[in-house]
Amino acid sequence: MRTKIVAGNWKMNKNLEETEALLGELAAKLPDTKAEVIVSPTFVNLASAVNQLSQSVIQVAAQNMHFAESGAFTGEISADMLLNIEVDTVILGHSERRALFDENDELLSKKVNTALDKNMKVIFCFGEELEDRKSGNHFNIVENQLKNVLFDLDSSSWKQIVLAYEPVWAIGTGETASPEQAQEMHAFIRKTIATAFNGSIAENVTILYGGSVKPNNAKEIFSKPDVDGGLIGGASLKCDDFMEIVKAI
Ligand code: 13P
Repeated sequence: MRTKIVAGNWKMNKNLEETEALLGELAAKLPDTKAEVIVSPTFVNLASAVNQLSQSVIQVAAQNMHFAESGAFTGEISADMLLNIEVDTVILGHSERRALFDENDELLSKKVNTALDKNMKVIFCFGEELEDRKSGNHFNIVENQLKNVLFDLDSSSWKQIVLAYEPVWAIGTGETASPEQAQEMHAFIRKTIATAFNGSIAENVTILYGGSVKPNNAKEIFSKPDVDGGLIGGASLKCDDFMEIVKAI
């Protein structure tokens, strides 16, 4: 059985007080679930989130990190800094990092390798843009995003990897991939990994869908056989919405 995950990517939202308030509510209202539930507040509130959730099963992830060990990288955060505050999961390759901060496959490969070397869990995001889908190029784009960053990994690293397929045209737009489109791509991703590595790695890797997942569409998307949960943006900022999505898994 693959691990099911519902993760909330808070992006650049919520100050300290708001973070404490939302986490308090989430911890109190979390339904009984077999899924892993992860929240990803902004860097400055990670330590306090870990502390506040020490008695909860809700886990905390970072939204990014640098690949270097330490040094003259003004404004950056290292893997060791995250581990030091007991954050051992990091989201890498988010489309906003790729589009707004010029993160390319080469850089992401370094980041993923550092995280794996440090024994961290990586939620690796990728997905095509609207033009790619319109031109029928979406499978190619996704295959290349996977190949350029993940295909040189040791087979043993895959237990630390969670994949998050996030079609860029569905992020923050209210336009969700249909459950069929999500299933079609997730099955393609699994097949691609089976070919590059083996069937057991492909069968065991958790693949999340992200892009306008809301309480009213989560159940149908999560019901698809190759969709193992979601990476949630906007709807993770409201306790009741996020809890509804957790219940949908
Ligand atoms: P939305 O759920 O707001 O579309 O964001 C998805 C996302 O980018 C999660 O990482």
